[in-house]
Amino acid sequence: MLAHQLMYEAPMRACLLLLQRLTQRKLAILGLAATLLLATASAMMVLQMRQSAWDQVARTSLNLLEITENAIDRNIELYDLSLQAVVEGLQNPRIEGIPYDLRHLILFDRSSTANGLGAILALDTQGNVFMDSASQVPRRLQLDDRDFFRVHKERPDAGLYIGEPTRTQKDSRLIIPFSRRLAYADGAFAGVVVGAIDVAYFDTLLRRLSIDPGSSVALFRADGVMLARNPSNTKTIGQNIAGSAHFHHYLEQDTGQFVATAKVDGIERFYTFSRIGSRPLIINVNVSVAAIQAIWRPKAIGISAIVLILCLGITGLTLLLQRELERRMHAERAAVSANQELARLATTDGLTGLPNRRHFDTMYEQLWSQAEQSGEMLSLLLIDADRFKRYNDTYGHLAGDEVLRTIARCLKREVSGPDEVACRIGGEEFGVLLLGPTHREVASRAEYIRQAIARTQIPHRGQDGGFVTVSIGVVSITQNKHTTQRECFAAADAALYEAKRQGRDCVRIQFNTN
Ligand code: GH3
Ligand code: MG
Ligand code: MG
Repeated sequence: MLAHQLMYEAPMRACLLLLQRLTQRKLAILGLAATLLLATASAMMVLQMRQSAWDQVARTSLNLLEITENAIDRNIELYDLSLQAVVEGLQNPRIEGIPYDLRHLILFDRSSTANGLGAILALDTQGNVFMDSASQVPRRLQLDDRDFFRVHKERPDAGLYIGEPTRTQKDSRLIIPFSRRLAYADGAFAGVVVGAIDVAYFDTLLRRLSIDPGSSVALFRADGVMLARNPSNTKTIGQNIAGSAHFHHYLEQDTGQFVATAKVDGIERFYTFSRIGSRPLIINVNVSVAAIQAIWRPKAIGISAIVLILCLGITGLTLLLQRELERRMHAERAAVSANQELARLATTDGLTGLPNRRHFDTMYEQLWSQAEQSGEMLSLLLIDADRFKRYNDTYGHLAGDEVLRTIARCLKREVSGPDEVACRIGGEEFGVLLLGPTHREVASRAEYIRQAIARTQIPHRGQDGGFVTVSIGVVSITQNKHTTQRECFAAADAALYEAKRQGRDCVRIQFNTN
């Protein structure tokens, strides 16, 4: 029982109390703050999702690049070793003298181990093939017009040179020539050793990498000549991409990442690139920005939609609560004014509209203590219609009611100051309380009242003068401890009785100056 109270009732009561204390303004601020908080939290969450999607793609791209770069570097090293073996053999004077077939066997023995490497050819200073790993009889070819031949002829330090992709005469296959310089003992140009690697070999290597649609991985020379690509596109192989706007990134750093829009297709991509070892080769992985956005955007849109619904819900709830508060406020105001009206009715006489006996008693109490505190004089006037029973008997009860209303109107007019009140205290009897006026003033006020009523000249056949009149008994006291309210009232009543006894339509005053 106690646990239930602690768990449910107490928080519920606290909520209700809080709701009661809330003003509409505070509620609006609270609703707005909750909405802003929710929107900020979700915006931060979306930003964080976006960041982690980009981080994830950056990491994956770097990993992919590292694996591919290592594989290609190792293979190129093997190609180079094969070429170097042939160069060393051809430059070895001891091999020079041995029979051709034996020389062929020794020279190309190691070259056969390199995976993906096609035939190795040795070219003389004129570019003519003089040894061919694929055949004892060298093919009749002159390759002095090729870029690699020119490079080695002009630059003794070219080392391993990776040539431009080219098509074989025999079967139009795309190949990439890898070559090294042959030199005489004095360093003079003695020809070139060149091996061909099938582009398909790199293509296969790159194709093994699983990449998302819209993404690609490409291998190209440092001067921009494209060597291989996944998704493969034979048209782009051999093309120079050095002219593209973002190519400068590859020359500035060995490894890096950047976002750029490709001129060819206008697609914005996230590029990750790296140089392959110390070789003049670059490999890059690029992922379309749209693919990265596809990782985080659907979730972000989902979250945003939920948050939007929640925000709308909060706003709706705030409006509902506001309306409820407004409704309650109106109801409370209506209840207060109804209570006030009820209180007014409870202290008002229905026939004349004057305050009733209940109000007279309250005011008597109140003015009495006021007089006690201030020492002012308090006067009580008891006003009674003369021979009113006869009036009723002669003119009827309704006409009698009208006379009472007329008397009330006169009293309202004559008694309207701040510390005075006129009430209907009985059937045809009225009481007036006056705080402050002196004896003389009270006497003339009472006389005024009497005359005001007489001036109405309501015919009354049963009355000596022929008109409706009143008799007034007055008592005025300056406060002392020996007189009570009751005694004071009785004195006023006695004065009234005296007025009646002396012929009516007159004022009798009893001043208590003890
Ligand atoms: P007196 O001059 O000695 O005061 O004579 P009175 O006839 O006025 O006095 P009495 O007390 O004998 O009669 C009062 C009458 O007032 C009796 C009653 O019918 C009448 N009365 C009291 N209340 C009302 C009322 O609300 N309306 C009407 N029409 N008459 C009322
Ligand atoms: Mg009377
Ligand atoms: Mg009377």
